[in-house]
Amino acid sequence: MLGGDVVLHEAAFNAEIHIALQAFPHRSCSDFSLGTHPATSLLKAGFNRKMAMRQLRLVVVGQMFECPVWYKIKLLKIAALKMLPAKKSRHIKSWVLIKRCSEQEAEEFVNDEKTWSRNYTRDSEEGQKRFYRCNKVKSKGPQCDCALYLLFVNDCEDVLIFKTTSEHNHDQIGTRSDYGISENVKREINKLFDLRLKPKAILEALNKIEGIKVPSKRQLNNYLYDRRREKYGRATIYLGELEKWIFDRTTIPDDENEVFVFSYYVLEDKVPTFRLALSTKKLLNIVCSTDVLHIDATYKLIWQGFPVLVLGTTDKNRKFHPLCLGISTNERQEDFQMIFGGLKEKALSLFDHILEPRVLVCDAAQAIINAFIEVFGNAPVVRMCWAHAKKNMQQKVQKTVHKTKQKEIIQDIDTLHNATSYEVFNAASQAFVEKWQTQTEFVNYFQEEWLKKHPNWFLGAAPCSPVTNNAFNRNIKDHNTLRERFPLSHFLAIATEMVGQWSIQSCKESLPEEPTIELKDWTDGYCWAKKDLKIKILSSNTAYTEYLIPSSQVGDVNYGEQWLNFDDYKRKHFAFWKVKVPKNGTENVNWKKGSCTCPQFYKKYICKHLLGLAIRLKLATPPLEAKALPIGQKRKRGRPTKSRPALIIQ
Ligand SMILES: [Zn+2]
Ligand SMILES: [Zn+2]
Repeated sequence: MLGGDVVLHEAAFNAEIHIALQAFPHRSCSDFSLGTHPATSLLKAGFNRKMAMRQLRLVVVGQMFECPVWYKIKLLKIAALKMLPAKKSRHIKSWVLIKRCSEQEAEEFVNDEKTWSRNYTRDSEEGQKRFYRCNKVKSKGPQCDCALYLLFVNDCEDVLIFKTTSEHNHDQIGTRSDYGISENVKREINKLFDLRLKPKAILEALNKIEGIKVPSKRQLNNYLYDRRREKYGRATIYLGELEKWIFDRTTIPDDENEVFVFSYYVLEDKVPTFRLALSTKKLLNIVCSTDVLHIDATYKLIWQGFPVLVLGTTDKNRKFHPLCLGISTNERQEDFQMIFGGLKEKALSLFDHILEPRVLVCDAAQAIINAFIEVFGNAPVVRMCWAHAKKNMQQKVQKTVHKTKQKEIIQDIDTLHNATSYEVFNAASQAFVEKWQTQTEFVNYFQEEWLKKHPNWFLGAAPCSPVTNNAFNRNIKDHNTLRERFPLSHFLAIATEMVGQWSIQSCKESLPEEPTIELKDWTDGYCWAKKDLKIKILSSNTAYTEYLIPSSQVGDVNYGEQWLNFDDYKRKHFAFWKVKVPKNGTENVNWKKGSCTCPQFYKKYICKHLLGLAIRLKLATPPLEAKALPIGQKRKRGRPTKSRPALIIQ
């Protein structure tokens, strides 16, 4: 603590005030006068210097807010001077020569005493003086009166050892064992730390143990910091170390769940560059069985300011599977190229598979798309995340469209999203633009952003791929294990563990090729199958039959009727669905591989039409529970009508 008197440089301060008044003649003396009050009273109130300065800065800035910055700084400096504690009236140490010897002997002498720690060095006319302090007390805080210095005499090779005349008084100050955390308390803390308790909980637990000195919160935090560093590696890692880490993990392991580096790049330069990607054999094998890749370009995961990339896929149940993790110093094309290139190379060398992904689900960062083209040769269908697109469009509508029209325009965007092919989307979006052309600001934005730049937000953009990146975000954001501030070695350890977990948790066999049909789907399909509908066969070949079925909103629309404007599109485009059912001619025919043009099918890869048609055609049998009438639907009086046979008109 800084007790003692405060030297007040009144004269210096007054001189500055004088200059200030000349520079700012319209101001009065009191504008600049801090008085001696703030600094002294703060110190007397027990503030330490740093706290007092902070308080004072507030006062100064408050008073001087109209002064130029340089002047404020100057005043602060003066204020700091004013606050300098009086030179400690410590009694001047008197030194006596205790030994004259060689340099080596002197160092041995100092070491043998086991009392001395190097403190500071001063040059003097006789030679350099190296001071030692008594290390029975902490280096910060009051010191023991006993001290030592070595004088490296200028004009000969001798060393003179001087010691203070005062004896050790460190016992009065308090010895080392009194402060810090004692060994038995450390053992308790370690136990609690291994239980992954947070500092607060550790303190609470320690308070309950009798007969120990509970450390302060700061002591505990400092100790835990060291503990963590010990456990997870050093705080900094050098490029060479990283390279070694990578190098130790580049051989392809036998264990299919063992994590290895499948692609990397390290460049020692003015600005060091590195990128690496982790995966396992099992996860890479899954990459081979999919043609939909998800990659995150919005960097939900950041480590030390570097983007952490996660690449994965979704299966037919729309479940996300993370497949590899990359970390790089940049987010340029080369960084994504490293991942794609590594995947392609490993798919070929490990599984003899030529990787040709078709769909990329991302938030449409151009660098990712370019990297994809560079590696795979052809442009992917870049699926624009619908959740992301819709959110942006909604915000724009709220800003630019009159309140009375907002609801309708958003509904129209939804309908546009349901377009199931490029042709339909192109035509419908033109009709949409025509319909809303009076909303100039929104329409311009819409055309630029959502027709030109990122058009693939409609259902038909990439059949059999997820409409949103939500599964991805859900999965990765829930992983709270990767923290932004981990030291590199710790980060690498955690990342490796994480990828290993993905591998173990990923499905035992290959990804499901068809969706799992849930009871709700069966019920919907069964109910639909019972409806009295006119179903027509549109076409048929050796592989499948295509049926035309009217939707619930068919009304008086005839199949194939042209639509003329957007509202007409809304009415007619959704009046009929086309369902393709694979032919029963061949063995193992799987009706689940069929398709439908309704929005539901595009979203879930299964719909009541395909399911219902399969039931009608006796290709599928719904479970008994699905046949139960939904609650709330009243039975008609009288004998229930027999279910009508499938009415299919040729
Ligand atoms: Zn001492
Ligand atoms: Zn359908």
